[in-house]
Amino acid sequence: DGLTLREVEDNVWEMARDDEMRVPARVFANEALLEQIQDDRTLSQLRNTACMPGVVAPALCMPDGHQGYGFPVGGVAAFDAEDGCISPGAVGFDINCGVRMLRTNLTYEDVQGREEELVDAMFDAVPCGLGGGGVHDGNHADLEAALERGVDWCHEEGYAVRDDLLHCEDEGRRPDADPSAVSQKAKDRGATQMGSLGSGNHFLEVQRVTDVYDDDTADSFGLSEDQVVVLIHCGSRGLGHQVCSDYVRRIEEEHPDFVASLPDKDLAAAPAGSELADEYYGAMCAAINFAWVNRQLITHAVRETFADVFDQSWEALEMDLLYDVAHNIAKREPHDVYVTDDGYSLYGDGGRVQRDLYVHRKGATRAFPAGHPDVPTAYRDVGQPIIIPGSMGAGSYVLKGGAQSMERSFGSTAHGAGRLMSRTQAKQEYGGGSVQTALREQNQIYVKAASGETIAEEAPGVYKDVDEVVGVSHDLGIGDLVVRTFPVANIKG
Ligand code: 5GP
Ligand code: MN
Ligand code: MN
Repeated sequence: DGLTLREVEDNVWEMARDDEMRVPARVFANEALLEQIQDDRTLSQLRNTACMPGVVAPALCMPDGHQGYGFPVGGVAAFDAEDGCISPGAVGFDINCGVRMLRTNLTYEDVQGREEELVDAMFDAVPCGLGGGGVHDGNHADLEAALERGVDWCHEEGYAVRDDLLHCEDEGRRPDADPSAVSQKAKDRGATQMGSLGSGNHFLEVQRVTDVYDDDTADSFGLSEDQVVVLIHCGSRGLGHQVCSDYVRRIEEEHPDFVASLPDKDLAAAPAGSELADEYYGAMCAAINFAWVNRQLITHAVRETFADVFDQSWEALEMDLLYDVAHNIAKREPHDVYVTDDGYSLYGDGGRVQRDLYVHRKGATRAFPAGHPDVPTAYRDVGQPIIIPGSMGAGSYVLKGGAQSMERSFGSTAHGAGRLMSRTQAKQEYGGGSVQTALREQNQIYVKAASGETIAEEAPGVYKDVDEVVGVSHDLGIGDLVVRTFPVANIKG
């Protein structure tokens, strides 16, 4: 579609600008990754992002980027909090989808031969798939408390220890949450799903650490070779999805002219400062809290299951939370930017000013560097942990926020390997059930899923090469390599 890119420095590609683009757009990728987004809508969606009112330069696509609803998955879009806008489509339907990693003091040897027992027990303890039911048998009052207080509520209820709060992005609570802005329909969907994995791409994975790239940081993160860790990937279930749909519809109804001025109606956004923008922000923050509660409740169930299977308390197994990061989120954050002819920008010269921005990270992870005040005290001197899952048959990575991340990417990096093909295409390629057997026989990975279809849709081959994605992140200095892990056993929703 005529979009041309020019490599302005290693792994940084700038799009040729047309008249409607208010700011430059950039892709972080090597040539192989860039090749993989030539035929879908990723680049045109990135171009559209650069046309939005109040967009702060540059509009960005991370190395795992691929096409999404309106905006690319792997997109980072910052809009001025006074003159810009906030867009549900740039957050994603699964508000605060994210990942958390739990440590253990077990080694691979301790778990080998017991994968099936462990997975079967976790499968019983953590509801997954499309249906209802959760670790916590929720009622309306619990749900309200969870929306309002996030992981603080889990703490009050005995589902979390204080250390969990201290090792979660924002300590597991967005203070701007406004439960009254969440519709009854969304609440009804959430009340029966408190502590549930969901379906499709969400998973619970036991992994072992295979490689350590940065000994000192690994040490600070409590990670070492051969150690067993657990990765939990899920979001805000039906509640978040409903919040997103509700506000897309309301934005279309209440701001039709604004929406009509955008290059694609899937970019539907509320103008900053409007009542609806504030309402969406409050509802989204409540859904963020819900997702953190969800991952915390699953953590509780996983700890109890490990305690049963290994006949020791979870404390004795040292199943502490390494970190929890969101990868579908928008936040009002202060950033240092230049004033240019295009408005505000990360690039420029002269002095910088601090502006409050709505930073949208959709399929992108916050990656704050050492010293940033929002990095938890435990990691302040090192940098924020970043968790990048690969696939059920490939490595995953723990990175740390890189020294370049604030200047290059509003403190952000990738969130995974990124999809190569659609679910429909995946079913054609990998349907028939051989993926599960191959993983078991060739890689000793035991996979159990709520639905057989999911395994085909999520086969390792549907994802890009995660090694390349994290390589680009590392080389750009936005998220630096710390350790690599490999799956031992996996539960798919
Ligand atoms: P998303 O949030 O976009 O659905 O997924 C995030 C990333 O998780 C994907 O880009 C993919 O790289 C990774 N992923 C998907 N399924 C699995 C899995 O079963 N195990 C691991 N370790 N990673 C996965
Ligand atoms: Mn999700
Ligand atoms: Mn996700």
